[in-house]
Amino acid sequence: MKVLKSKASLAEFIEEARSKKKTVGFVPTMGALHIGHLSLIEIASQYADLVICSIFVNPTQFTNVYDLEHYPRTIDSDISLLRNSACQVLFLPEIDEMYTRDEKWTFNLGYLENILEGKFRKGHYQGVTQIVKKLLDAVNPDYLFLGQKDFQQVKIIQHMIGELNIPVKSIMCPIVRETDGLALSSRNIRLSAIERTHALSLSKILFQTKDDFPVKSIAALKKQAWQMLAQAEGVIPEYFEICDSETLLTATKVNSNGIVALLAAHVGDVRLIDNIILK
Ligand code: AMP
Repeated sequence: MKVLKSKASLAEFIEEARSKKKTVGFVPTMGALHIGHLSLIEIASQYADLVICSIFVNPTQFTNVYDLEHYPRTIDSDISLLRNSACQVLFLPEIDEMYTRDEKWTFNLGYLENILEGKFRKGHYQGVTQIVKKLLDAVNPDYLFLGQKDFQQVKIIQHMIGELNIPVKSIMCPIVRETDGLALSSRNIRLSAIERTHALSLSKILFQTKDDFPVKSIAALKKQAWQMLAQAEGVIPEYFEICDSETLLTATKVNSNGIVALLAAHVGDVRLIDNIILK
């Protein structure tokens, strides 16, 4: 696996691969890699000849300095995990490679950036679209692999790809969970043993919601989930919503073709998100 730090060396490598008619699959990450990330790389290798992964902790998407400073950074183990995966190139830029000073970016995401995550992390999706646009410009992939774990992020990036007519096909990959249900997340490293048991409430609530989805109304499902969240030890909820998978607006059982339940909560000083597709 090649580790490339500059856009120029990346472009050169990709040009060489393109001259051999290779297709390119891209998996952007912020590192602290786990099996969830590796599943995206595995799926990418089924679609594309050349799999490129990036690791870049993007400062512009953090709305909280504490969170940015405490974001786990485990580059040595990330590189050894990637060396044992189907990834052929790691793009590992420094901040100056991706940003010039005092750079401005605003992208019209409409209501999508002010709901769910956006309500609690103002400006987060501006930072996400900014870095994803820069990475797509640098890699110019045929396929982009995104995790369902960040469901709203997938919808936002797909929106940007559509608005800007970026010639890439995005593929949403399923959430990888621990055997006890906890969704894998780089942030889980920061949970203490007891906090980790508290965090299990999140997936339990989502699984319960899915079990009851066929027989309960959306209002009843929400009420039940909020009751469970209120009783969950060590969990401070931010939101629980049941949304139309396309619009992310409140779902109705009759009108929504796809329905997803999404939540965010703090466990200790770690903020976790999770979701489950109901229909
Ligand atoms: P991150 O490094 O957290 O920015 O995540 C990079 C990519 O991995 C994003 O597309 C995430 O949605 C995806 N991802 C994160 N956690 C998981 C998981 N548990 N299962 C599958 N994909 C994931």
